[in-house]
Amino acid sequence: MENQIGTSGLIFNEPPLWEKSVPGRCGMSIPVNDVKRVKFDKGLIRDSVALPELSELDVVRHYTRLSQWNFGVDSGMYPLGSCTMKYNPKTNDVQASKQEIANVHPLSGDDASQGALKLMYDLQIMLAEITGMHSTTLQPAAGAHGELAGMMIIHAFHEKNGRQRSKIIIPDTAHGTNPASATLCDYESIKVSSNEQGVLTPEAVAEVMDEDTAGIMITNPNTLGLFEENIKKIADIVHAKGGLVYGDGANMNAVMGFVKPGEIGIDVMHLNLHKTFSTPHGGGGPGSGPVVVTKELEPFLPFPVITKQNNKYSLSEDRPDSIGRLHTFFGHFGVMVKAYAYILSMGAEGLKNVSEYAVLNANYIKESLKGTLNLPYDRPCMHECVFNDEKQAEFHITTMDMAKRLLDFGFHPPTVYFPLVVEGAFMVEPTETESKQSIDEFIDAVKAIAKEAKENPELLHSAPIITKVSRLDEVQAARKPCLRG
Ligand SMILES: *Cc1c(COP(=O)(O)O)cnc(C)c1O
Repeated sequence: MENQIGTSGLIFNEPPLWEKSVPGRCGMSIPVNDVKRVKFDKGLIRDSVALPELSELDVVRHYTRLSQWNFGVDSGMYPLGSCTMKYNPKTNDVQASKQEIANVHPLSGDDASQGALKLMYDLQIMLAEITGMHSTTLQPAAGAHGELAGMMIIHAFHEKNGRQRSKIIIPDTAHGTNPASATLCDYESIKVSSNEQGVLTPEAVAEVMDEDTAGIMITNPNTLGLFEENIKKIADIVHAKGGLVYGDGANMNAVMGFVKPGEIGIDVMHLNLHKTFSTPHGGGGPGSGPVVVTKELEPFLPFPVITKQNNKYSLSEDRPDSIGRLHTFFGHFGVMVKAYAYILSMGAEGLKNVSEYAVLNANYIKESLKGTLNLPYDRPCMHECVFNDEKQAEFHITTMDMAKRLLDFGFHPPTVYFPLVVEGAFMVEPTETESKQSIDEFIDAVKAIAKEAKENPELLHSAPIITKVSRLDEVQAARKPCLRG
């Protein structure tokens, strides 16, 4: 183990700042006061402020040590399926932090904001082009927020057509946020099962689609990492009964440059700028989940919308059919800047390469590990592959045991126990940014762990062993979170 990545080096304990406080210690040298002291009114002084007394170096070390307890894409491979934890080029952050961009004020008015409005306007066109759709809103702050926007648009569409519907079809391979978004719009989710190949069939959809169904929400590629190959036929079935097709486009990094959802029957979909388009994510944001729609749905987009006339950009709220405002001001501008910089620097060919590498890397892992872990759907995958712990069951080793042991090998574990259609799922998304070398190290680690499962299952039951803390009581952590440090 000594030679494994991530297992050497100093691991510091770090108490809260208050416990490190030394009376009289101070972070700066303040010149002797030569101004006459004035007595403050007692009422202005809070007497319970007890800030820790520390030097600058104490504080720097404290936060640096805490930061080293974190694991991120910048520290190692992070193969968390369904999350696209890829490396995002730092240059895009640099662009978004430039003073002239970061200091733009949303209340400056259209005249003083032409550059920002142009950037947003152009980004909208780029995203519409990538997805083969007609129009874009950049307002939603996350993927799930985009889903909500999309569901509200579908709702508004049916309302406008004079007959509201009550149901939405959602496959068992959809992302978990999909039914939640449908429920928020008062739609009942109707579950439809994928077939033994892991994809939806036109027959299964035809069976449940009726004129009381507002539409279908399809995650494509789905949460098994498989492409919904019948999507066009399914869209035809839904459209024939007056329904709309929502595409969950969070997995767009698998198909950019190859598939335009607008050409295969999708009416409305969201993208995750913080997955596919160069914003790091996790820890609660900020993110951005733009929604792209067909021409028919354009009138329902949230306002304000950006218009362009005689080369001047302005914001308009004059949208009688709009679902209204979804975010303060215009959404998360900094995230949009990163996506804009990313798309321009990659170019069309570069974005196509992203998808090629994402898919190649996932298939390489799938083929390399399929003798080691059970592979429930043994067919070409897209950007991620889903194994489970069936082969380890005889040694009483579960997906959780293996995921925890991966921490000892210096890897963030993959997604576990999701998607729900696979029992004991172990879902790996390597992303396009990992080198063959780091992917091989991951494969070797999983193989070594599978060997341990056979030869030394007790060790796996107590993993992780060399991390700062070992196995935590996750139920307790979720039920009784300790938020005070
Ligand atoms: C991540 C993800 C979402 C939700 O996106 P958030 O930005 O986390 O709200 C929805 N669908 C799929 C397929 C996803 O992978």
